[in-house]
Amino acid sequence: MSEERFAYAAVLPDRIHRLHELAVDLWWSWDVRARDVFRQLDYALWRRSAHNPVKMLQQISVERLRAAAADPAFLQAYDEAITGRDEERRLVHPWWAEHGGALAGGSVAYFSAEFALHQSLPIYAGGLGVLAGDHCKEASDLGVPLVGVGFMYPQGYFHQRMSNEGWQEEHYERLSWMAAPIEAALTPDGRPCVTSVPLGDRTVLAAVWRVRLGRVRLYLLDTDLEENAPWDRELSARLYGGDRETRIQQEVVLGIGGVRALRALGISPTVWHLNEGHAAFVALQRIREQLEHGTSFDDALETVRKSTVFTTHTPVPAGHDAFPFHLVEKHLAGTWGEIGQHRERFLALGQYDSGHGPQFNMTALAMRTAANINAVSALHGEVTRSMWRPMWPDTPADQLPVRFITNGVHAPTWLASSLMALFNRYLGAGWLDRMDDEALWEQLQEIPDAELWQHRQELRHDLFDYIRERLRSRWIDERVTPNRIVAAGAMLDPTVLTIGYARRFTAYKRPELIFHDVERLARILTNADRPVQLVFAGKAHPADEPAKHHLQRVFRRCLDPTFGGRIAFIDDYDMHVAHYLVHGCDVWLNNPRKPLEASGTSGMKAAMNGVPHLSVGDGWWAEGYNGRNGWLIESSTNPDDQAATDNADAEALYKILEEEVVPRFYERTPAGLPTRWVAVVREAMRSSIPRFSTRRMVKQYVTEMYGPASNGK
Ligand SMILES: *Cc1c(COP(=O)(O)O)cnc(C)c1O
Repeated sequence: MSEERFAYAAVLPDRIHRLHELAVDLWWSWDVRARDVFRQLDYALWRRSAHNPVKMLQQISVERLRAAAADPAFLQAYDEAITGRDEERRLVHPWWAEHGGALAGGSVAYFSAEFALHQSLPIYAGGLGVLAGDHCKEASDLGVPLVGVGFMYPQGYFHQRMSNEGWQEEHYERLSWMAAPIEAALTPDGRPCVTSVPLGDRTVLAAVWRVRLGRVRLYLLDTDLEENAPWDRELSARLYGGDRETRIQQEVVLGIGGVRALRALGISPTVWHLNEGHAAFVALQRIREQLEHGTSFDDALETVRKSTVFTTHTPVPAGHDAFPFHLVEKHLAGTWGEIGQHRERFLALGQYDSGHGPQFNMTALAMRTAANINAVSALHGEVTRSMWRPMWPDTPADQLPVRFITNGVHAPTWLASSLMALFNRYLGAGWLDRMDDEALWEQLQEIPDAELWQHRQELRHDLFDYIRERLRSRWIDERVTPNRIVAAGAMLDPTVLTIGYARRFTAYKRPELIFHDVERLARILTNADRPVQLVFAGKAHPADEPAKHHLQRVFRRCLDPTFGGRIAFIDDYDMHVAHYLVHGCDVWLNNPRKPLEASGTSGMKAAMNGVPHLSVGDGWWAEGYNGRNGWLIESSTNPDDQAATDNADAEALYKILEEEVVPRFYERTPAGLPTRWVAVVREAMRSSIPRFSTRRMVKQYVTEMYGPASNGK
């Protein structure tokens, strides 16, 4: 592991030499002990570097390093983190010891177009990436042998800034790869891995980067190489940035290049997991490999099918990539080679008509080449089966091969450190290992109301400190107008009941539902004794014009005096902002048009932290709500009349706010405690942590999907 690659400010003192190892392994980001090492090393620098240890070691002074190496308190933290790291590698997780046999000694390759691991590696747009990142981290914790395969986007996804008129502006920033926790992936003979991908009538090269995630490795393809033509160098520049042509070429690189890269690295997975249809060309490459060994097309397809797992993520038709056949022909031209005679059969695997004539559909391709298919919540399972019913015309409706595994979130990533410390005290230090044991969480009852409430109050204050510091730096560094400072939350009050709404802006999520009756909302927000505030965040996809208009109207509401400065829009929503919001709000609002939200995971992050969910019964909430852990907006879904649905849903939302949420929050005992509120907080945590963590989810993937896939069942 070369330190030169990172050009650190100084040679690390011997006593703390393994700081390098801690810094380049993103394991630090979800291990409290490792995180503490960097916080203690130089807290100001930690903040300034946006929590990026690699950057810290590039900027830290020699004196500071020397002082740390002689400071007993620091050394104790350092030793604990290093011991923790060594143990993690040495010990086999008890669950894996018992159930790991399911994989029969094999391993999993997990393909995804995006991975959200930490803000220092901005190669994600939203929920799909967060799920992929959380899946990999959990696989590392449990010791599941898994490698991730994705894209290194040097310009990542865009940064969002708002114009004075509230129009979203998109800024792309080139990643400083020196300061990113990535290293060149090496082939077995020790050379940097570069793979070639046939694309159209040419060959494109892709370099392969490696990211360390505890026991898991992630491999990222990057076409920005001098040997490539300028337009090919740009292929991997941005996530979801291009047109259809760019998109299909990215998918060829990910699917076909991804398999080739694993081969070059000497990695031979037995299970191939496609997270969404973007990587479905994996099947083509794998079929091709077998044809080259003389297998028949049917046998090759059967082998590939048995060992492929496919997870579909959305019931929204536009979320499923489909291309006209001529584009597929054009960009796969170089791939046919010896399998040219099977071209028609291959194209037929992707053929699907979703109402606009037959196209080459990546979801259809994945479904026809995967024997193990799942949706991401119970309700989404039902919706997926009926949506894709035509795929299996001869199969009875109750036997369609689509099951569900409800999403989860990685608790050590998303739980506030202060709450983790609280659990250490009340549940015992081993709670992380038993996190999905529902009985364990009964012990939450032992935490006194006052103590739990104290934590919730502090987390809300942390959120507002963060918002204010962001405002200050925008004010100083970017010289934004006072308007923007007001819209971004200058008048928010850290003692007031705060409702969070943060997710991608898009029409079906109805970001403006709460403004349905402006006067009624104003009465709720500006009540002098029991005020309420609303905090919004989220990006609109650069090509989604209607979403940008929703965003602009929300921005204008923030400036409307009718609402008394109690609405704010936090720009540039990312994992960092998400952490503060899911920790610090009091209520997490979600009001999609049912049943279009396949799962939703931000609500799980919030609930874990004692931020109850207030939501339409869609996605995970359809199975998560139990009558005591939050609130259900009973959606009177009428598919033929959206206006009537919106009307009824908004009415239901106001009623819950007025009659349930606000009174509960402000009703205090003589000691100042909102006892009935704390009961919901506690129940939100108790009911969500064991069931909606990736611990439960990855275990299910191993036993229900990976096991059967590795045994060819
Ligand atoms: C969790 C998360 C999401 C996904 O949230 P949903 O509720 O599924 O929309 C999106 N973006 C970021 C930055 C997140 O942390």
